[in-house]
Amino acid sequence: MSSLRATFYAHQTLNLHARYNLSDNAKKLLRAHDEWRMGSLGQEELGRRVRMSVDNRKAITDTITKCAATMRKKPADTKNCIDIIQACTEILDAADKPPDSGCLPFLKLPAELRQIVYRWYASSIVASTLVAYSSELDCYCGKWTSPNTSANPPIHRVDMALARTCSQIKTEYLEFLYHKYTLYFDCCCELSKRLQGNPTLRSNLRSVRVHWTGPLSDKAFTCLAKCQELKHLDIVVSKSTTIYETPREKEMRRYFRSNKPVRLADALGIDELLTIRGLTSVCVSHVHARQTAKRTDEERANLQGLLRVKLRVLELN
Ligand SMILES: [Zn+2]
Repeated sequence: MSSLRATFYAHQTLNLHARYNLSDNAKKLLRAHDEWRMGSLGQEELGRRVRMSVDNRKAITDTITKCAATMRKKPADTKNCIDIIQACTEILDAADKPPDSGCLPFLKLPAELRQIVYRWYASSIVASTLVAYSSELDCYCGKWTSPNTSANPPIHRVDMALARTCSQIKTEYLEFLYHKYTLYFDCCCELSKRLQGNPTLRSNLRSVRVHWTGPLSDKAFTCLAKCQELKHLDIVVSKSTTIYETPREKEMRRYFRSNKPVRLADALGIDELLTIRGLTSVCVSHVHARQTAKRTDEERANLQGLLRVKLRVLELN
């Protein structure tokens, strides 16, 4: 693109368009080409104007033909004709450039501004804890699924329409949600499945509340220990926490038969739970009374004391 070439309006002053018998479509596109050169029109829009009509593309190729013919007849017009031909080739280049369909205008905003939009979009979420994937029931650990009790606020369905616009926006919005809110999982099967299948969740999960129950508790806590951003952990215990034992406890009970209930310290997943590091807070909660049988206050407090020491929680308060 040369800034020394005469502009559309200079050619108009010389009455070149009429002399070369250029079509109205050609004149419109040459004017648009001038606007592109001046920076008031994007190249994508210039190309789109050619692509929107077969007549427009033909107008440009006809213009090149007419200018070439004029050059042969009137060598004195060669410079002006070359200027117009060059403008035409730039217009065709713009038309042939593949449209930038993968990039929405929103994604051209700086990342900080996009974060402000995500914050605004999520401002309707009033809950601080989101129930993750509560509608899917595909495990059989006996978990109680609906947190919709009188003690809990109704399930707040998060509007995820924004996440359906494109993959990049989906990733960014999910990163925002995973980072800002506490996610609640009904059981360790759910937590294990989601952490294994969702790398965005693994990379951004910051605060989690999980009911420690189910046959995959060890796998779930192993995955949780790999979440680099995890800062807050709330373990919900119940009688069902000890339905599944560690392999060692299971083996021992074959030889040391006992009618004593299994201790929390022997529940499946305890060894993996104790490998989690990097937290700034950890707490142990009772399950809701309507959900399943609670453990004693002493057991809850003992586990909380154990986790605070063994997980080397970085106390910031
Ligand atoms: Zn489960």
